[in-house]
Parts: sequence; C-alpha cells; structure tokens
Amino acid sequence: MDVSIQSVRKEFDGFPALIDVSLGIRSGELIALLGPSGSGKTTLLRLIAGLEHPTEGAVFFGDEDASHRSVQERNVGFVFQHYALFRHMTVADNIGFGLKVRPGSSRPSKEEIRRRASELLDLVQLSGLENRYPSQLSGGQRQRVALARALAIEPRVLLLDEPFGALDAQVRRELRRWLREIHDRTGHTTVFVTHDQEEALELADRVVVMSQGCIEQIGLADDVYDRPNSPFVYGFIGDSSTLPVQVENGQLWLQDRSIGMDARDLPEGPATLYFRPHDIDLLDGCGGCIAGTVAASRRVAGTRRVELEVGGARERVEIELPVEHPAGTNGRIAFRPKRWKVFPDLDRGAEAQPAGTHIHESSIDETELMLALTT
Ligand code: ATP
Repeated sequence: MDVSIQSVRKEFDGFPALIDVSLGIRSGELIALLGPSGSGKTTLLRLIAGLEHPTEGAVFFGDEDASHRSVQERNVGFVFQHYALFRHMTVADNIGFGLKVRPGSSRPSKEEIRRRASELLDLVQLSGLENRYPSQLSGGQRQRVALARALAIEPRVLLLDEPFGALDAQVRRELRRWLREIHDRTGHTTVFVTHDQEEALELADRVVVMSQGCIEQIGLADDVYDRPNSPFVYGFIGDSSTLPVQVENGQLWLQDRSIGMDARDLPEGPATLYFRPHDIDLLDGCGGCIAGTVAASRRVAGTRRVELEVGGARERVEIELPVEHPAGTNGRIAFRPKRWKVFPDLDRGAEAQPAGTHIHESSIDETELMLALTT
C-alpha cells in the first residue's frame, strides 16, 4: 500500500507540531522517521494511523484520501514502545485479539484465529509460548508478541513507535536485524519512529530526518550520511566538525589564509565549513590547507581524536588520526577535508517551532490506544 502525506500541517492549540510535511512512501518500503525529541515523529506516525487528523493537508492510502477515515477503517498495525500487551490475556489471545473483536461477518472462526496466532508465533520465533502471560516474558519477547499482534489483522500499513526504545542495547541490535528479516519476508509497508541514528541507518530503506516539525532530508542511509543537505542533518547524523570560513574570490578563507578549497559555486560571504572528523587527508605542510596545534587528544576505539587550535588559536576543530600518529600534545598538524560542505551563514527565515518551549507528555495509556486501534 502506497502512503502519501501531502502538505500536512498539524497544530496543537495553535502550536505547529508539523509544518508543511510531504512524504511519499512506496508500497513495501521500510521507512525510518528519525529526529530529536519533539521534532514531530510521533505526531506524523499518529496522523498516518488516524489517531490524529491534519489541521491542513491530506494523507492518502493508495488513491484514497484517508484523512477523515477512522483508525479502524485504515486497518493499520501499531507497535508501541511499551508493548501495550493485555496483561490478563495469554500470548495467543493477545495476538488473536484484533481478529476476535471484528464485527460478525468479518470475524474469522475460533479455529482460524488460533491457526493464525500459531503461524505468527512461528514467524516471530516464539512457538511454544502461546499460553504464557506477558509478565512471564522478557522485554524482547513481549515486543515480538506486540509485532505478531500488529500483523495478525493483516494491516495495510505497519507503524512502530520507538519499538525497541525500552530494551537494552544488545537486545535492540538483535531485534533490529530480526525486524528487517520479518519485513523482507512479509513485505508490509512499514514506518518506524526512532531517535537512534544507528538503528535508522541500519534498518530502513529510506530515512526521513525531522527537526522542529519539518522534514530536513529524505534519503538512503548513504545519502543522509555522505550528503547531508543542511547544517542540522550534518550535526545530527554522525560526527561532524565545523569551522567558520569566508567565501571570497571562489576560495574558502580561514581568517586571512586561503585553505585551498574551491568554492566557485558558493555565494560570497561568511559561511560554515562542515566535514567528518575521519574524512580528511593529512598533509606534510602546505600553502593552502588547515593547519593547527594539537590542544587535546584522546583515544576513541580504534582511532585518536585530536582537537586542533587553528587560525591563530581562535578556533578549535576536531579530527581523527591513526592511533600510531606521532603528533603529541603540542605537535603541528596540517590537513584538508576530503569530503565537505559549506553552508552560508544565513538566518533560516522560514517558520520553525520555538525550540524547547513546548513540552507535551501524553497522558493516554498505550494499552488504551491499542484498544482504540483494534475495536
Ligand atoms: P519524542 O522523540 O520525544 O517522542 P517526537 O519527535 O515524537 O518526540 P512529537 O511527540 O510528535 O515529537 O511532538 C512534536 C511536538 O508536538 C512537541 O513539541 C509536542 O510537545 C507537541 N505535541 C504532541 N502531541 C501533542 C498534544 N496532544 N497536545 C499538545 N502538544 C502536542
């Protein structure tokens, strides 16, 4: 099922949680909504589910405008961070719940529901646990049951809100791989919310990076990591180093020195240079490069992170060196970024959320939401 979000705006009491959001999701795609807290990820997911309605714009399921369709009519599967399993029901009953509460003619027989639950238990690799209660399962197992329950209704779209957020790092990694396998086997159009960039980059076909109610970039993992299109994406995904520069005569200048980088296509004026600390060429000395004195150095896993004072010690910039590099605490190092981007220092004129001024804690219990989705 293709899903198309068209120029959606969502306000809560006049506060814009989403601003002019458009996104096309292809049938069978696995999409990650990635962004910091408050960027609008959950609101967008809930709009797709039909748990919220847009203030402006529309949500299409295929050719059909679903904006005013109820949650049940949309037939979506939803998985929450905190499992939202029904505590008093066994695993099998939890999985079959969405089918059991269907109105008369569309409700499968008891045997059919049992057969389907057992098939799904196989799929999520929990066969044999059908008669357990949620309290008798580990966090990872509960989340597998939650996924099986979401799949039981044969949803048109599968939506997951921070599905692994409550699990420890090791289990998260395992479930991540497992979710990708299940997705490849079942082929559901899937959207999941995360603020974990590693999870988004590893798992998703495409990543949607969000900030302050807007989509900053949509792309493959390689696109958003190697070709970030805004200072926000550069800073949010992976490590980045920055330096204030000047664009003049088709060159980049750090204070009064040209740093030997071609800037012919860029507008003249003050700007910021962005690059990855590891993505540099070390030079033996240079006429045009970035050179500085080591101010601090620390070992990070297989490399050494070095802070350089550059531009007459007025700026500091971080680069990564091989661990065996001889630069001591006072050594001089010259380098040039291999891949880099320059963003002019302009105020972003467009409307944006006033950062950090609007905190909303949902008071609705996830189990209540689950009931709303299925009954
Ligand atoms: P997190 O990662 O913390 O869950 P998020 O990116 O999912 O954040 P949203 O939950 O979509 O962000 O919230 C976006 C903005 O909208 C926030 O400023 C939030 O306070 C606000 N908001 C969300 N739901 C409501 C609501 N029901 N009433 C009022 N404001 C809301």
